[in-house]
Amino acid sequence: MPAPGKGTATWMNRSILIVGGGVIGLACAWRLAQAGHGVTVLDAAPEAREASWAAGGMLAPHHEADATDDRWRLGVAGLARWPAFARQLVDDPAALDFHEQGGLVPWLDDDDRQAIDLRLEPLRVARIAVETWTKHELVARDGALTGAAGAFLLPAAQVDPRRLLAALRTAVVGIGVDLRPDQTVTAIAPGRVDLADGKHLEADDLVLASGAWSQTLARTTGLTLPVEPVKGQMLRFAAPDGLLQHFVHCHHAYLIPRRGLGVVVGSTMVESGFNKSEEAAAIARLAAQARRLVPALAQAEIAETWTGLRPRLHGGRPLIARIQPGLIVATGHFRNGILLAPLTAEIVVALTNRLAIAPEAVPFALAAGVVSSV
Ligand SMILES: Cc1cc2nc3c(=O)[nH]c(=O)nc-3n(C[C@H](O)[C@H](O)[C@H](O)COP(=O)(O)OP(=O)(O)OC[C@H]3O[C@@H](n4cnc5c(N)ncnc54)[C@H](O)[C@@H]3O)c2cc1C
Repeated sequence: MPAPGKGTATWMNRSILIVGGGVIGLACAWRLAQAGHGVTVLDAAPEAREASWAAGGMLAPHHEADATDDRWRLGVAGLARWPAFARQLVDDPAALDFHEQGGLVPWLDDDDRQAIDLRLEPLRVARIAVETWTKHELVARDGALTGAAGAFLLPAAQVDPRRLLAALRTAVVGIGVDLRPDQTVTAIAPGRVDLADGKHLEADDLVLASGAWSQTLARTTGLTLPVEPVKGQMLRFAAPDGLLQHFVHCHHAYLIPRRGLGVVVGSTMVESGFNKSEEAAAIARLAAQARRLVPALAQAEIAETWTGLRPRLHGGRPLIARIQPGLIVATGHFRNGILLAPLTAEIVVALTNRLAIAPEAVPFALAAGVVSSV
């Protein structure tokens, strides 16, 4: 693959710098390299451990969505990309802990059921298959959820974000991407980055994929890109495989079975800037919610706790757009960056190769609200 440098003649063999080695940067790097471009990925960390590493890994466009808006349509298109993406990334998608068996929304009592039922009505109107499980059916099919009175099963998938990141790193290196850890970018411009060691790199295109930190870098090229960090706190119970068959998405917490590792529980939504500190009270609250739904977790040890910063832009709308010649932005994925990574990479390849993008993505490829002062 060519080293960074400007001047590539065609749209099909360009040199591309990507700032950020999270799931968005790596997925873009992989697909751009497959499309024949020469790609360099720069990340400030020795091994990227920000939002993508912290995520739950639910691929769940229907669980929180309003089934009439364009974010929902983007999420549905994102989910549709996942099976092929996983199969192309690894021989056996089970290696990513990737499953497509759907996700549960449990109810605790009749009032709860009615409220959720009402919320799910637009999904039924959109002909999304919503299954209703009575308590009896729930016990038969996901027996540890004895704290729930029944559940809805919605189409969804799940993946282990940490296994995903490892597989993406292997794939990008395997295809010749120049993956450079420990490279802090201090300023960007179309087709150019300045590095903390005083050096700079140039290429035909720059892709900004630095998650919650995108605003700081955008400012250095005169762009107002109001990405803000929203902290999420997580924990993992040590528990045997098979305790839960599906991920469970409840009012105040979600529980995700993770092969060989137990059950991951999340999450909080805290606006406290770039402060990633953990709060014992939040962990205790999440653990209590999880144990209420799955009493078998009462004796389970909390094996790990962590936090991550979701990149939120314009209330949760990602931006995947060419802002200027030589500058593409792919950020602001907020609560759905794992879900949207394959589709985002597809869009970035289309923007690079001057191809049409998926119709569901068009509203997110318009740089509305991004103010350029240059
Ligand atoms: C607790 C939590 C739970 C979540 N659960 C889910 C879920 O279940 N499903 C889902 O789809 N999404 C989920 N998300 C959202 C998802 O994780 C994010 O939307 C996604 O990871 C964003 O990916 P990214 O690559 O843009 O950002 P990041 O993963 O944050 O990557 C950005 C990278 O940029 C690098 N960087 C920053 N500044 C610089 C610089 N100056 N120079 C060089 N490198 C730099 C950082 O080191 C970092 O590695 C969750 C997020 C959190 C925090």
